[in-house]
Amino acid sequence: HDTLGSLGKSRAKFISAEETTGVTFDDFAGQDYIKLELQEIVRILKNDKEFQDKGIYCPKGVLLHGPPGTGKTLLAKAIAGEAGLPFFAANGTDFVEMFVGVAAARVKDLFSSARFYAPSIIFIDEIDAIGSKRGGPDIGGGGAEREQGLLQILTEMDGFKESTSQGRFDRIIRVGLPSKDGRVAILQVHARNKYFRSEMEKQVLLQEVAELTEDFTGAELQNILNEAGILTARKDQDYIGREELLEALKRQKGTFETGQEDTKDMPEELKLRLAYREAAVAVLACFYPNSHCPFVETDIRSIHSKPNMRYNTVSGKPFLRKSDYVNSIVRACAPRVIEEEIFGIDNLCWISANATSVASTRAQRLILQTGMTAFGKAYYRNQSDLVLHLAAKLEALRHEYMRFAVEKCSSVLREYRSAVETITDVLLEKGEIKAKEIWDIYRKAPRIPQPPVHPVDEYGALIYAGRWGNHGVSLPGRVTFAPGYAGFSTF
Ligand code: ADP
Repeated sequence: HDTLGSLGKSRAKFISAEETTGVTFDDFAGQDYIKLELQEIVRILKNDKEFQDKGIYCPKGVLLHGPPGTGKTLLAKAIAGEAGLPFFAANGTDFVEMFVGVAAARVKDLFSSARFYAPSIIFIDEIDAIGSKRGGPDIGGGGAEREQGLLQILTEMDGFKESTSQGRFDRIIRVGLPSKDGRVAILQVHARNKYFRSEMEKQVLLQEVAELTEDFTGAELQNILNEAGILTARKDQDYIGREELLEALKRQKGTFETGQEDTKDMPEELKLRLAYREAAVAVLACFYPNSHCPFVETDIRSIHSKPNMRYNTVSGKPFLRKSDYVNSIVRACAPRVIEEEIFGIDNLCWISANATSVASTRAQRLILQTGMTAFGKAYYRNQSDLVLHLAAKLEALRHEYMRFAVEKCSSVLREYRSAVETITDVLLEKGEIKAKEIWDIYRKAPRIPQPPVHPVDEYGALIYAGRWGNHGVSLPGRVTFAPGYAGFSTF
């Protein structure tokens, strides 16, 4: 009796035994001990009868945990591939549902399909989404529902191996970041189908990349080789060389910088984007002048992910009020807002990518460290306290500040659009512009009046967030939290 209809059906992807055979343990490099452990499981899976006769049962639950991109999915597929078994790939978030009974029904459906194809493998990615507060705002109390999903999984897993009394996860394996040797091995795997000038050069280059990629995951290393391949093809070159690898590495690191490039060699469109970016930064710097840090000049001679505007620091301790922090968040949005305004949201490029990250970091600092917002000054015993209990509140307030910053920044840039255009023209023509000329243009430019921007609503954001977490908000401005989770100064 399925009253839930298709809602209760698992959304897991079924991959038949024939399809899984492509992936093997050879595709996973580094951390050999993990492979050894999983290979043993495969041996038992393949010869279930023989092992059962010896009283050995196959581990039913294996928990792989570690940062994203370290090859957990790959390992699960390799188990299925090597054992020649069908594979069900699901995601923890599939079992996070607002409606009562849906999560549990989906779990049941998944396990009953798997039982039908047994022996088979169920892979649930991001299992931590179930039963934790992860996965976004919890509207209407889906928390209990999530717990139901998790309970159902644990029950089903128990049912899978009535004969044993072991815990639910027989193996808990950490898949960590690769060591240097591990990185070399991973690079070797992904260089298998790539061309290098010689085997020797390949080995030297892969060693070099491994040296420079501490803290990189397997997925990132794979990307580097792939990107290097693309750069090579773009140059119509047959072999990946040192230059392409280093460029790909830079891209992967997210700096995307072309270094001290001369604008002579810069594509026209990039130059235009750069000029607009600097002009927008300049207009915002005039709109919110910072007496402690007056701006000096800017140019479009080099490209970095950060604006080129140079500032002079005046000695002495700055006296920063809350408005100064907020203004600096608004200012930081300028590169992104102008690029979206002029080139459109589907046509952004990397030169503005840094802006939102700077702005949101500043918003977070304002909320967490200054004690000047409705959040008060927060202290977290540890990271998981923050994530579990306060992240939603922090995020809601940060979201509110970012909403304001982006709207305010757009409004200023529209009001001073004519100044933006004039400064852009000067930059394109002369390559640089000094503070005095910027101020002149700014003061004389005709302005287009704009509707007021809705101010930051701190209490609104917090009250909204209060509904997400366990510990609500009592009165506006007086946030109450469960004792022991966070030191909080009320205000
Ligand atoms: P996770 O499930 O841990 O997030 P994935 O298995 O999805 O990571 O990794 C994505 C891709 O990165 C894999 O398909 C593989 O190509 C590559 N990769 C990650 N780790 C390794 C590794 N140790 N060896 C070889 N390739 C790897």
